[in-house]
Amino acid sequence: MANPEIVEKNGDDRLLEGCLSLPDIHVNVARGQSIFVRGISPDGREVNQEFAGLMARIIQHEIDHLNGILIIDYASPTEKIVLNSKLKELRRRHKLNEENESYIQHAKQAEALHEIELKVKLEEMAADEAGHARLLRRILKGL
Ligand SMILES: [Zn+2]
Repeated sequence: MANPEIVEKNGDDRLLEGCLSLPDIHVNVARGQSIFVRGISPDGREVNQEFAGLMARIIQHEIDHLNGILIIDYASPTEKIVLNSKLKELRRRHKLNEENESYIQHAKQAEALHEIELKVKLEEMAADEAGHARLLRRILKGL
């Protein structure tokens, strides 16, 4: 499905959420329990589909990525202070310049790097990421 858009969100579900792009970082994120998504199929038709539970959460997470939103954007100011050291470590690992860079900017760059890797080498992801990747592939095939 291309250009997915959430057209309806129902229920409220709060869960500690992680992200492939931000190892060891977890943030409490409120999501809709079920969602209706509208998008375009590979052959150009409009598709509409409902998702619920974990699948709905994953789709909301991935659509956030398309819109440049990360789980850390949902962190409270207090949580952000705690996350800051972990994000600094991530920045170090990605060998980015620490000067004049907020952790948000860094994380978004890390995310961009990851997205590229994900597209090129989906099959070679680490074991704990493989489940997530398989799920995504299944979602993408099913739409
Ligand atoms: Zn993610």
